[in-house]
Amino acid sequence: MVNERRLKIFVKESRRRFEDLLGQMVEVPSISMDSSRAGDMRRMADLARQYLAGMNATPQVVETGGYPILSGGWITGPEYPTVTIYNHLDVQPAQEPEWKQAPFVFKNENGIYRGRGATDDKGPALTAMLGARYAIEQGWPINIRFLWELEEEIGSPHFAAGLRNRGLIPRPDSVVVSDTIWIAKGRPAVPYGLRGLLGARLLLRTGEKDAHSGVTGGAARNPLAELMEVANTCVDAGTGRVKIPGFYDDVVEPTANEIKDFLKSGFEVRRFKEAYGFRSLRVEDPAEVMRRIWASPTFEIHGLSGGYHGQGVKTVVPGHAELKVSMRLVPSQVPERVFALLKKHVAKVNPDVKVVREVMLHPFKGSFAGLYVDCVKRAVKAGFGKDPAFVREGGSIGAVVTMQKAWKAPILFIGLSLPEHGYHAPNEYYDWGQASGGMKTFAHYFSELAKMGKG
Ligand SMILES: [Zn+2]
Repeated sequence: MVNERRLKIFVKESRRRFEDLLGQMVEVPSISMDSSRAGDMRRMADLARQYLAGMNATPQVVETGGYPILSGGWITGPEYPTVTIYNHLDVQPAQEPEWKQAPFVFKNENGIYRGRGATDDKGPALTAMLGARYAIEQGWPINIRFLWELEEEIGSPHFAAGLRNRGLIPRPDSVVVSDTIWIAKGRPAVPYGLRGLLGARLLLRTGEKDAHSGVTGGAARNPLAELMEVANTCVDAGTGRVKIPGFYDDVVEPTANEIKDFLKSGFEVRRFKEAYGFRSLRVEDPAEVMRRIWASPTFEIHGLSGGYHGQGVKTVVPGHAELKVSMRLVPSQVPERVFALLKKHVAKVNPDVKVVREVMLHPFKGSFAGLYVDCVKRAVKAGFGKDPAFVREGGSIGAVVTMQKAWKAPILFIGLSLPEHGYHAPNEYYDWGQASGGMKTFAHYFSELAKMGKG
């Protein structure tokens, strides 16, 4: 169905338009977590609405109670399959001192597109949009909808509310999420799983105020020491093994085939250590490192506060202490159930400790086999000349689980960012190589879906 020559010309001819649109988008500082940017957020929504309108993609600004969701696309016939492409147009803050340019001034250096949001996720959003535009221009029997969120970087607090508006955001037959990173340049990677997250604060008060250890020490309880003991019963610091009874009961281990596919991703332990500045790791075997960061649950301690943190040693017995922890969860762990296990365990070890639940995100596991996955494989191969490796992500995208719950439709990932693009980091950029390969990939993917029909 795809005429390669015609597609190639379309991509080449779209370059100017792509660069122009991306430049305008990057120059709007749509920082969702900065409340002083509320005006810019509205400007971003308005700009996106104008783009979609300019492409006759009948945009809708869907109000959610927070920042809106942009919805739009082309419905060519109810008998054809409908695919929804998810992207987000909000960005991370950009106050890092390492920026070599003003982060919200777009720079195009011969196909290197610099500025905050270029790769996460404005560039991929426009890439997918132009790939979709091609599919519609060819008259392929497919309906394509866009879903552009403006609250992804703050954990999608109003996304579920937006999806309840079935009139403006109808249920599709399948979903593509384009907001993920390859493991290495030149090696397309398709994630199919995300870890979940459960955060908690453990609080212990044993006195009304701090006391002097010379006067009270020995008889006074020490909440810092007691919380350290609790922490010790939750996780083995050497191996990382979680010691909370029942914690691993629901864990589905990755199969040997999955691990084999991880190994095709181009992941290197040396580069991983370099990128994050690690001097040593718990394990050095690449398969084991990937299993641990993508497909195994964790228990981390982020902070312990209370007592004295100034210079030297002040001999106080603290009156209270707080331990901040979180767990990354994998399929099929249920955050609510894990929280109950944590609470029960802590109560047994130290009944005076109060456990307060914080962030909670469910893990996600899509499939890495089946008809849709075959379509992704062929599309990526056509777009980038290489078979993709199927990997998982260690982080969480709240919106993905929300869409899965709301629609129960297959969710596939076609991400276009590279590790060197600087996701959530200073000097973020995107590039024409990923954009042009991405447009071809998306065009092919839509042609595959059109061929597959409504199923
Ligand atoms: Zn993103």
